[in-house]
Amino acid sequence: MTESNAPEATERVLSTMNRDGSRRRLQPKLSAGAFYRKRVVLAWILIGLFTAIPYIRLGGRPLILLDIPSREFTLFGTTFLPTDSVLLMLLLLGLQMVYLEFLYRPVERITGGRSKWSKRLGMNRIGDGGRKTIRFVLYVLFSFYLAHTFLAYFVGVEALSRWVRQSPFQHPVAFLVMVSTALLMLADFGYFREQVCIVACPYGRFQSVLLDRRSTIVGYDFNRGENRASPKRLKVMPADEVEQTGDCIDCTACVITCPTGIDIRDGLQMECIGCTQCIDACDAIMDRVGKPRGLIRYTSQDELDKADKKILRPRVIIYPAIMLLVFGLLTGALLGKDAADVTILRGIGAPYAQLPDGRISNQIRVKIVNRTDADREYRIAVAGGAGLELVAPQNPLPVPAGATRDTTVFVMCEAAVFDDGSLSVVVRLDDGAGFSHDHPYRLLGPIGGGGGE
Ligand code: SF4
Ligand code: SF4
Repeated sequence: MTESNAPEATERVLSTMNRDGSRRRLQPKLSAGAFYRKRVVLAWILIGLFTAIPYIRLGGRPLILLDIPSREFTLFGTTFLPTDSVLLMLLLLGLQMVYLEFLYRPVERITGGRSKWSKRLGMNRIGDGGRKTIRFVLYVLFSFYLAHTFLAYFVGVEALSRWVRQSPFQHPVAFLVMVSTALLMLADFGYFREQVCIVACPYGRFQSVLLDRRSTIVGYDFNRGENRASPKRLKVMPADEVEQTGDCIDCTACVITCPTGIDIRDGLQMECIGCTQCIDACDAIMDRVGKPRGLIRYTSQDELDKADKKILRPRVIIYPAIMLLVFGLLTGALLGKDAADVTILRGIGAPYAQLPDGRISNQIRVKIVNRTDADREYRIAVAGGAGLELVAPQNPLPVPAGATRDTTVFVMCEAAVFDDGSLSVVVRLDDGAGFSHDHPYRLLGPIGGGGGE
C-alpha cells in the first residue's frame, strides 16, 4: 500500500508494482546459504572472464572483437560478417548477466547500514545521506568500469587504452559513446534492475514454453508446508488444529530474499529466475526450527503432487538433441569456414554487348572477402568454352587480411558459341595458397549466334 490517491488494483499485480501502479522498490535480503556460495564462485568466474576476454588474443587476433564500423566480428580468432549474425546470435545467447546480483546488490547491502559487512565497515555510523552518496559514487565507478570493458569488445583494448590516455576532445565521439554507455549501465543497474528479469528478459517466456510438470524447478512443497502457521499463531491454536499445520512457519524469509519479489509458495511463476535464494533462506529457517531441509527445493510439479516421477520422456531427449544439433552446426560452421567468401554477380545494365570486332562481351562483378589473417592475391579465370578471353583491371586481385574487395571483369567470346542465347562457363578463383573456388555462370549472347543488341 502507498499514500498515493490513485485507484488500487483489486487483482494481483506484478511483484515490482504497488497496487496503485507505482514502483515497488525491492531490497532483497541476502541468504548466504550453500547454493549462494556456489553462485558467488561462478559469478566471479564469469565477471573475470568478461573483463579478461578483450585482452586475450588468439592467432594474433582478439578473442572477441565486435568491430561495428568495419562490419566485422571476430570470435575465437575467426572473422564473421553481419551476414553471419545468426552464428553470432547463437554464441551471444549463452551470455548471462551477473552484475546486478554480485556487484550492485552487494554495494547496496554494504551501504545500507544494516548488514554484517556494512557494520564492519562502519557504514552504520554514517548518516543516510552520506551512505546514499557513497552508494551513488560506487555505482558510477562500476558503471564506468563496465562501460570501458563493454566498449573494449567493440573497439579493442589498444584503441581504448589510447583514448583513456588522451584528452576527450581528441576523440569526442568515442568519449560520448563511452559516457552514454556508462549512463545506460547506471540507469539499468541503479534504477531498472530486476525489471530486466521480469519484463525484458526472454528467460521467463522461454521457461513457460519449455517446462512441463516433470521439469526441474525451484518449488515449495505444498503438502509438507501447509497449513502454514506462525509460531505466534501456534501458541494460541487449539491442539487439534495444531496437528493439522505443516512445516511452513509463515516467516516470509523466502519472500524477503527473492530478488524478483515473488512468493514461491504461490506456485511456479514466470518471474522466478531460479536463483535458489528462497531455498537457502528456508533451509536456514528449517535448521532453526529443527525440521528437515528441503521445504523449498529443486523438484518438479509432479513430484510435489506425489505423482509418478518419470524422468525419461520425449522432451528430455528432444531438447538436448536440438541443442547438440545447434551447437554441432555452429562448431561445423566455425571449423568449415572457407578461407574466402566469393560473390559473383551479373554486371549492371545491358546483359551483353557486341564489340566492333563482332565478339560478345559479358560484364561480371566479383566480390571477394579474405577471411584469413594474411594478405592474399586472388587469380580470376574463366573456363568452359573455346576462345574465351578474360579482361580484368587487376588480375590477380590483392585483398588484405580480413578485408573485402570487388572488381568488374569482362569475358569476351565469339558470337557463334551462343546457340540458344547462353553459354555455361565456370568462373574460377584461387589464391595460390590452397583456396580455390569454382562458380558456375551463364554467359549471355545473341540467340542463334547472330546479331547483336
Ligand atoms: S522460508 Fe520456509 S518456513 Fe518461512 S515462509 Fe518460506 S516456506 Fe515458510
Ligand atoms: S528461485 Fe525464484 S522464487 Fe526463489 S528466490 Fe529465486 S526468483 Fe525468487
